[in-house]
Amino acid sequence: MDKGIKLFKVFGIQISLNYSWFIIFGLIAWSLAQGYFPQMRPDLPLMTYWLMGLITALLLFLSVLLHELSHSYVALASGIEIKGITLFIFGGLARISREPSDARTEFKIAIAGPAASLALALVFWLSSRGVDFLMPGSVISSIFYYLFLINGILVAFNLIPGFPLDGGRLLRAYLWNRTDNLKEATRIASRVGKWFALLLIFAGFANIITGRLLNGIWFVFIGMFLRQAAAESYQVVVLQHSLEGVKVRDLMTSNVIAVDEGLSVAELVEGYFFKYRYTSFPVVSGEELRGIITLKVVKKLPREEWAYKQVRDIMSGVFSDAVLHPDESAVDALRKMTTEEKGRLPVVEGGRLKGILARNDIMSLYKVKSDLGK
Ligand SMILES: [Zn+2]
Repeated sequence: MDKGIKLFKVFGIQISLNYSWFIIFGLIAWSLAQGYFPQMRPDLPLMTYWLMGLITALLLFLSVLLHELSHSYVALASGIEIKGITLFIFGGLARISREPSDARTEFKIAIAGPAASLALALVFWLSSRGVDFLMPGSVISSIFYYLFLINGILVAFNLIPGFPLDGGRLLRAYLWNRTDNLKEATRIASRVGKWFALLLIFAGFANIITGRLLNGIWFVFIGMFLRQAAAESYQVVVLQHSLEGVKVRDLMTSNVIAVDEGLSVAELVEGYFFKYRYTSFPVVSGEELRGIITLKVVKKLPREEWAYKQVRDIMSGVFSDAVLHPDESAVDALRKMTTEEKGRLPVVEGGRLKGILARNDIMSLYKVKSDLGK
């Protein structure tokens, strides 16, 4: 879901567009230009309808962005880092670095988005009235009126009490606060989310049967997406719960097979890639971690250079994002692996290579724990 086009930064948060967004942008502009606006304002030139459609779609995009930004702003103010905001087919998604640590924070973050949409709805409604008053008959008032409607719908849809929608988060915060049990609160909130998703899918099929094909497909689509999201977010919480208190130190492999940076690439291939069959190795000088060497990089190097090129010439550097600390939590480690798209990460303390941790090491502990019903 991270893939997309990087746009710009707000409060230091990277805003990106998922490719699917272009499809939806086109669809919205098209349906406005061909359906909604000609119905509201008949007998205008086609170009005007298209211009109105494009401007409205753009302002809708800004509305969704402001909704996500206000979630992010409150999260940042509560000390939760935001990895980025991706706008995609069904709106936006702010990727927070971790779940809030208490119910109150969760509540504040969740309510911020719908509050922003509500404020926008109000602003667009007032603007629409204002334009009507100052420039009677202007098409601008229709644009604002549509944005008032759509922001209102955004408020209503997001307040549905099914996790992971905002309303579901509010419900979870409420249950969490009452029972002090995050896992149980999430279970209930995601179950409501799944039921609501089923209801949407059912309504979608009812629409399709009665001939409203496009509406129906939309409902089914959103319902399926919501169902998936509800299941996944519950899984994440269960995972976090069973890995609570587990540190990188507890799971890492201490005797790491590391490569000396002065080795030739030929020796590296013969003595490491063939022998151990990993796709990457940490590179060291003494005990100090210097970089990472991957099979991919070696493959790119012409074979005749293997004998005289050294590992240090072609290795990639280590970034703090791609390195673990022994005292880091297993959940954070897993998150880093997912963000960096790496199956293994080196563990470093004071510049020295202490071990290596693989995703499988974490997942097998999780599997054992969940099999034992812990
Ligand atoms: Zn939201």
